[in-house]
Amino acid sequence: MSLIAGIVGKQRDWHAAGNTRRVEDRIRRLDLLKEAVKARERQVMDALRIDLGKSEREAYMTEIGIVYEEIRFIRKRLRKWAKPVKVKTAMTHIGSGGYIVSEPYGTVLIVAPFNYPFQLALSPLVGAIAAGNTAVLKPSELTPRVAAVLREIVEAVFPPEYVATVEGGVEASKELLEQPFDYIFFTGSVPVGKVVMEAAAKRLVPVTLELGGKSPCIVHRDADVKLAAKRIVFGKFMNAGQTCIAPDYVYVHRDRKAALLEELRAAISAFYGPRPIESEELGKIVNERHFDRLVGLLGGAEAVIGGDYDRESLKIAPTVLDHADWSLPVMGEEIFGPLLPMLEYSELDEVIAEVNARPKPLALYMFTRDKAAENRVIESIPFGGGCVNDTLMHIATPYLPFGGVGSSGIGSYHGIYSFRTFSHQKSVLKQTVRFDFPFRYPSAKNGLAIL
Ligand code: NAD
Repeated sequence: MSLIAGIVGKQRDWHAAGNTRRVEDRIRRLDLLKEAVKARERQVMDALRIDLGKSEREAYMTEIGIVYEEIRFIRKRLRKWAKPVKVKTAMTHIGSGGYIVSEPYGTVLIVAPFNYPFQLALSPLVGAIAAGNTAVLKPSELTPRVAAVLREIVEAVFPPEYVATVEGGVEASKELLEQPFDYIFFTGSVPVGKVVMEAAAKRLVPVTLELGGKSPCIVHRDADVKLAAKRIVFGKFMNAGQTCIAPDYVYVHRDRKAALLEELRAAISAFYGPRPIESEELGKIVNERHFDRLVGLLGGAEAVIGGDYDRESLKIAPTVLDHADWSLPVMGEEIFGPLLPMLEYSELDEVIAEVNARPKPLALYMFTRDKAAENRVIESIPFGGGCVNDTLMHIATPYLPFGGVGSSGIGSYHGIYSFRTFSHQKSVLKQTVRFDFPFRYPSAKNGLAIL
């Protein structure tokens, strides 16, 4: 038996023996997990700096802090969520009662991507543990320092039959996908999401797929352009644009384009200084392959802000591309880097038609003070989640489910949605034994069966 098969087998036995059943034990593990992260904050920040050039501010705000908040929110409410929920029964079921038990799936696989390698590994894990599962965590091989710290943290809190990390690339992932998991939670690209779902289909394993795509950002005619520019620059260039919900491109009303460009320039310079490429606040591209891909996307586009890059440091300056259109390579794929193409429109209908002609986005942002325009966009464009007058912030509240739709993903998580994602809702009807209606049964005689 391979190492991976051995781990999964032990986890399944351990789960079947009822070791994750007690909610108090789950809460204790979540507390221990938080303590283990706290004790290694420095290591996590160092690893994030080496692997992705993340500043401490970003590392805390978008990785460590999010995990703390997810633990705090969930552990506070877990006792209540984990209780069976009584429900009404239909008139036809008079005398009976119904209840729903949140039952852990069993042993789950969590596959994480490189871009928020800490948070996107541990946040799903918090949900899996809260719901009473055992778990195998597969961090991204593109961020090996973070993967090593994750392993250390997991080993400090859990025995391997409860939670284990498996490091490695495609080969390790493939072997994992062949194991008898009860649930697979995958965060990553659309093509790999398809591979995961295909493997899961062979065993009828349920999946959550947190994928990507091109997320539009609409700046309407009445928008506060200065504020919009600040919030777009915040959302687009954080983590050097390697954010699944980053505004991929901007659709700006043609009357406001010149003003928006000016404000984008001002915001980039305020956040990253006169030489953004040298700024400590600007992250790096994860590897040469992605760097070369992004530099390739610059071809044919008109960089009116930024456009400079340095292969040695893997940095690309925050770049705004003017006069973009759908025929450009940069509009043909998820950018996942610090390039922001600008398209212009006259009527919202044009934007709605163009966006709806393409795969459903993971996120959508709209800057407007016009409620009718807001409603029009929210009602007409399907997307995973998003913000009005902001970017990214919908991901950071545990009250909103986070996930995609269509090819941007299947399922959602965060807060109670994580607990539900990792639980099977087991339905139980408890029938009365005080009476029994005869008319439900067939009768060999004419009339009703009287037993
Ligand atoms: P990726 O799909 O290349 O890799 C994700 C994970 O899958 C990694 O752990 C990797 O080792 C594994 N993997 C790679 N090839 C595999 C294969 N053939 N079979 C099984 N597993 C395999 O994604 P990435 O480059 O790490 O991350 C970027 C992508 O993830 C972007 O598309 C981004 O939009 C998306 N993403 C989505 C979310 C979300 O929450 N929806 C969050 C972050 C990133």
